[in-house]
Amino acid sequence: MRIGIIGAGQLGQMLGFAARELGHECFFLDPAERPPAARVGPVIQAPFDDSVALSVLAEKVDVMTYEFENVPVEALRDLGKTVPIYPPLEALRLAQDRLDEKQLFARLDIPLPGYHVVDSPDDLHAACDAIGLPLVVKTRRLGYDGKGQFVLKVKDQIDEAWEAVGGVPLIAEQWVPFDYEVSAIGARSVHGDIAAYCLTHNEHAGGILRVSRAPVDDEALTAKAQAYLSRMLEHLDYVGVLALELFVVGDELLANEFAPRVHNSGHWTIEGAETSQFANHVLTVSGSRPASTAVPGHAGMVNLIGTIPDAARASGQGTLHDYGKAPRPGRKLGHITVVADSAAERDVQTAAVSETVK
Ligand code: AMP
Repeated sequence: MRIGIIGAGQLGQMLGFAARELGHECFFLDPAERPPAARVGPVIQAPFDDSVALSVLAEKVDVMTYEFENVPVEALRDLGKTVPIYPPLEALRLAQDRLDEKQLFARLDIPLPGYHVVDSPDDLHAACDAIGLPLVVKTRRLGYDGKGQFVLKVKDQIDEAWEAVGGVPLIAEQWVPFDYEVSAIGARSVHGDIAAYCLTHNEHAGGILRVSRAPVDDEALTAKAQAYLSRMLEHLDYVGVLALELFVVGDELLANEFAPRVHNSGHWTIEGAETSQFANHVLTVSGSRPASTAVPGHAGMVNLIGTIPDAARASGQGTLHDYGKAPRPGRKLGHITVVADSAAERDVQTAAVSETVK
């Protein structure tokens, strides 16, 4: 099958590698000159909202998908009449606006932090009174990796917060003193079968994912997260991989956000699971059922951010994935995955890799 992928970053690259192994051919669209996925297939270089370029891509392929959630939904609506686009555009639309996303969680009875819609400094005052301090002010659209966020600790910071992120639609969210963060990742096919991975434990710094570990050793929490994930997949009549990010507070889970695509916190599945999230995305968007998400061992993943130190290449620790991107502060350039027989050994190896890449 020929698969069109909108976005040719590292997620596109890893989707492309998985698609190739499964016997498919991939074509990409991306505005960048030599994006990571150019290693795997031809890239049409064009902006994501270029309807002519999108049509050219659509004509080449049997199915389209995306690796990036800020693709303008309107640009894809008409194309969807000529070629199937998975995951469904409604999922993409909801994920693009934090308010829509929160309303979806609430509709599906998935617990979430308290929030308040903010369109003016006065609304920020009202938010402080309604949900208390501290709170996190986030842009409703186009935020990623903690960008477009401001943590408001005292009311005196309202002007500063407005200066930093205001002028666009915002949402103020209760600050959650979480124990840790997890993600639930799973795939659903056009036939409705769902395959979910075990829960992944995620550590962020400065809003960027640094380290993931799986599985989380908590059956009750895993069952709860997978139930929320399945509820979303079914409600959205979803096809492909979806990642749901949650805060763990005691035995409770609060939904933070979801991504209608493969996710950084699932990169460990390449070595750590019987079928990777990338292969399962390709399988499901191309009409097959998802394959086994079983995890025989214990996996850890460390992101390589800003630079790939020579020591990380030389150490031979784990499997290093180099996306081939130019170094830049804060940029995800690659990752290293370790797989061990026990959680304790996985943690030792993950800590050693984190130390090497520091
Ligand atoms: P987000 O872009 O919303 O995923 O936020 C990036 C990271 O910031 C999250 O993974 C958390 O580590 C942190 N964060 C975001 N929202 C909150 C919140 N309401 N309470 C505490 N930490 C948060």
